[in-house]
Amino acid sequence: MSQEVRVRFAPSPTGPFHIGGARSALFNYLEAKHTGGKFIVRIEDTDRKRSTAESEENIKEALKWLGITWDEGIDVGGNDGPYRQTERLEIYRKYTEKLLAEGKAYYCFCTPEELEAEKEAQMQKGETPVYSGKCRNLPKETVEQYLKEGRPYVIRIATPKDETIEIDDLVRGHVTFDSNKVGDFVIVKSDGIPVYNYCVVIDDALMHITHVIRAEEHLSNTPRQIVLYHALGFDVPKFAHVSLILGADKKKMSKRHGATSVQQYRDLGYLPDALVNFLALLGWTPEGDQEIFTRDELIQQFSLDRVAKNPAVFDIEKLNWINFHYMKQLDADQLFALCLPHLQKAGYAPEELDETKKQWLKDMVWAMREHVQYGAQITDAVKLFFTDDYAPENEETAAVLKEETAPAVLTMFCQELQALDDVTADTVQPLFKKIQKGLKVKGKFVYMPIRVALTGVMHGPDLNVIVALMGRDKVVSRLQASGLLQA
Ligand code: GLU
Repeated sequence: MSQEVRVRFAPSPTGPFHIGGARSALFNYLEAKHTGGKFIVRIEDTDRKRSTAESEENIKEALKWLGITWDEGIDVGGNDGPYRQTERLEIYRKYTEKLLAEGKAYYCFCTPEELEAEKEAQMQKGETPVYSGKCRNLPKETVEQYLKEGRPYVIRIATPKDETIEIDDLVRGHVTFDSNKVGDFVIVKSDGIPVYNYCVVIDDALMHITHVIRAEEHLSNTPRQIVLYHALGFDVPKFAHVSLILGADKKKMSKRHGATSVQQYRDLGYLPDALVNFLALLGWTPEGDQEIFTRDELIQQFSLDRVAKNPAVFDIEKLNWINFHYMKQLDADQLFALCLPHLQKAGYAPEELDETKKQWLKDMVWAMREHVQYGAQITDAVKLFFTDDYAPENEETAAVLKEETAPAVLTMFCQELQALDDVTADTVQPLFKKIQKGLKVKGKFVYMPIRVALTGVMHGPDLNVIVALMGRDKVVSRLQASGLLQA
């Protein structure tokens, strides 16, 4: 029987949850689901200065919102816990003792000044700075004496010399590193806290991780981790380093490119299924040219061997297109719920809604659904109902009101509208035909001037729906404001 796939997402809770992190989490989740394996979430918080409980909370919330659930890890538990590195310090300490006892790690008493001078000298010679190994062979007595004196120290791993470290990366292929360039790196800092490269190896081994799927930026850490796997006598897992996400300008995705965190996309009114669909395509290339995938389809079709080596480009237009697709599946209540916070933020909807107002807003949002790719866009789409800033948007639009027949059309429409008992989409609709017949003008010459006089633009939802939503008073006052009504 083949071994069960066990993968993990191991974020450092040091800031907003970047979409790159969400993509790594998703690929791990999909690999686990696809293979019937297990997905584990572990928190890497040994950088105590930068780690915050708030950030951990954000990550968990975002994963849950995206529907990326985990089988073992923080909150849910499992056999290999605890799943937060600061709660595992005792475990790391035991391995450090073992490595020291076996001579595979050693105490280093070099001062920061000494190390700095060493580095300077190497750089001047054009060499890559690597620790010289000065303390690697300190006599036992000297070490004991220094420890007794209370000299500050770090613990370093004794990296084998003159070896080639090889990785058969599932994405990047065969990659080699020279162990001499890796050098004897620090595994426990002077404050007694073990470093990321060290904890990650112990955790992945004790959690029986079979595949380490993570961002390409960790490829350079991998040789160090392999040295540690060997020193600790652990089996080395398979690695898959997924390419970076670049902005449209082909530079690494950063704040300059707009929203970069999952939270920001949620707050902008994107849908979790859309974001998952989009993130899956950032690096993974499905077989055909299908672009919309349900979660089940992603699980069924995902495979690491179709994860591309070249960088993925974050195309916001594509995300918007995908999101629009998912928005179309929402019913009026769901769409309204997505848009309401944005209407409230813009001051278009009160915090407390009575039924009438709510229904009106809901109808308005529904009428605008073809013009909204994500929640926050609703405010632009409905602006015309709330401001008087609706003058024709450009010359071409303004020209519509200069048509010879425009004054007669607007005048007749105004009269007909005032004569209606009740202004609804259904009662307004027949008026347009009536005007066409009455004034003997083509449809275009009826719809266009009315639309432009009311909204300032030539496109939008059905005109009868706009008129009904706007209500008789506002429509009449906008028709009057056009200055085209005949006496
Ligand atoms: N804690 C690391 C990070 O957030 C992840 C390390 C890994 O996946 O090995 O970048």
